[in-house]
Amino acid sequence: MTKSAVIIGAGIGGISLAIRLQAAGYNTTVVEALDKPGGRAYVREQDGFTFDMGPTVLTVPHFIEELFSLQPGESGEPPSGDFPDHMLPKTPHATELRINEGTSGGPETSKYVTIRPILPFYRIYFDDGTYFDYDGEPESTRRQIQAIEPADLEGYERFHKDARAIFERGFLELGYTYFGDPWTMIKVIPDLFKLDAVRSLFGFTSRYFKSDKLRQVFSFETLLVGGNPLRVPAIYAMIHFVEKTWGIHFAMGGTGALVNAFVQKFQELGGTIRCSSPVDKILVDDLRTATGVRLKGGEEIQADLVVSNADYAHTYMNLIDAKHRRWNPDWKVKLMQHSMSLVVIYFGFKKKDGETLDLQHHNIILGPRYEALLENIFEKKVLSEDFSQYLHIPTLTDPSLAPEGHHACYTLIPVPHKGADVDWDKVGPGFVDKVLTMLDVEGYIPDLKSRIVTQSYITPDYFEGPLQSYLGNAFGVEPRLEHSAFFRPHNRSEDIENLYLVGASAQPGAGTPSVMMSAKITARVIFKDHGVPGVVGAAPVADAGQGISAK
Ligand SMILES: Cc1cc2nc3c(=O)[nH]c(=O)nc-3n(C[C@H](O)[C@H](O)[C@H](O)COP(=O)(O)OP(=O)(O)OC[C@H]3O[C@@H](n4cnc5c(N)ncnc54)[C@H](O)[C@@H]3O)c2cc1C
Repeated sequence: MTKSAVIIGAGIGGISLAIRLQAAGYNTTVVEALDKPGGRAYVREQDGFTFDMGPTVLTVPHFIEELFSLQPGESGEPPSGDFPDHMLPKTPHATELRINEGTSGGPETSKYVTIRPILPFYRIYFDDGTYFDYDGEPESTRRQIQAIEPADLEGYERFHKDARAIFERGFLELGYTYFGDPWTMIKVIPDLFKLDAVRSLFGFTSRYFKSDKLRQVFSFETLLVGGNPLRVPAIYAMIHFVEKTWGIHFAMGGTGALVNAFVQKFQELGGTIRCSSPVDKILVDDLRTATGVRLKGGEEIQADLVVSNADYAHTYMNLIDAKHRRWNPDWKVKLMQHSMSLVVIYFGFKKKDGETLDLQHHNIILGPRYEALLENIFEKKVLSEDFSQYLHIPTLTDPSLAPEGHHACYTLIPVPHKGADVDWDKVGPGFVDKVLTMLDVEGYIPDLKSRIVTQSYITPDYFEGPLQSYLGNAFGVEPRLEHSAFFRPHNRSEDIENLYLVGASAQPGAGTPSVMMSAKITARVIFKDHGVPGVVGAAPVADAGQGISAK
């Protein structure tokens, strides 16, 4: 008999899992609180401009290709339960993208959405106005290191070797491992110590680079997934290698175009998505088994299994009655560290005649302080006078996102979550003005303020309100050593039978590639628990707890 699944939330993780379950034969319904899918990747249409509100940096395009390749009756797993080498490069190496600057999505992806490589990956501005164009290419990287601190060239070679070892073990081999029991974790601990992957990422980079600038260049990336470089374990050095190996990409039309394409794929497989359908409660019977969901309007949807793509804290503290929770009571959820929040300013401005912006598609503009600013955001939870930002200018790649003669941009500023004593209604307008004035006066976008034609912004209130994330966190549970692997929320609920989690708060963590991996991990766990109904030639996956081998 066909089984049914209901997924709470149409974030990228939720939709990715929906595609997997629907393809495997589950009758899958996604219920989303907002009026459109995407979650953090929601799209704001404003005065003729299209703004991706969240993720803009796409990595690992073959994860995307894998989803578009799924056909009815396929679980995405081989019948033997022998997991294939899905993580090996299927796209050109980043250096080849220079020559092949065309489409970087695979053949199935290209039927739905056009994905292009972006070079350089990032331009990283330091506070003295100099910059580093990071493109993953060893020669240009060495040339720029030489210009900043020649003594660090030797350190870079060692960093490269050691970060590659972390990437191979941590991502290629262990990336899909589900840490559902302590033994799975204990088995990998010796390797993590051997690789020095448990010290902080910033401590790790500081072993190789004397220059403060280079320590920042090789550690800032975790901020894009909610990790404090001073606290996140050095296993996250793998991000550097993920980018270097498979490049950085952009979906033409914006990340929203990718979300729509995923929804189209899900619907073609026969799945149902219902927007403007907030879930009030997960229904749990006397045997502590999830039986469906009740929407805010009272309607009940019964299902054989329920998956929450919503924030971990919201799921346990609001959607499940306390009497059903044994391992995730309020006090434990509150004790966890929840990631920082963000202010994001969306703005469109007029181009000057013949103007060429001296900026790249992705720009990191670092402020005067690095460690002290991070301490304020993550640990002390105070809003600083200074700030660092990520300035995104997608119209340098896709002019269709703005009316002719205009650019569409956003700039994102990490700020403390709502554990901080900040009234954003009061502080917000002045903060936004300070950021835009800085971009104008310091010449990043000359005369910006007089050229802006549309503007809006979000603060931690947005993450707490419409996105229903505890304390307005922007990236779920913070990636720290104590919230990694087994200690990160589990994709199979320990409290309730037939309840699963997927997305940024669950394993392995936040970021678009990670939530797609989370979807695959959760799918494997479900297939193991329930068998894979209706999948041509497939047997239940033997051990969802196994990592895959890169060989
Ligand atoms: C501004 C910003 C920029 C980012 N940039 C990048 C980037 O460049 N690259 C990258 O890889 N990552 C980036 N990230 C991180 C990445 O966007 C997220 O980790 C990822 O998109 C989260 O996906 P998710 O599947 O966990 O679900 P989410 O996007 O968090 O979606 C969860 C969904 O659940 C819904 N929901 C919640 N409660 C309920 C309920 N009760 N009933 C029904 N629905 C509910 C919400 O409305 C939401 O749609 C960025 C994040 C932000 C915020």
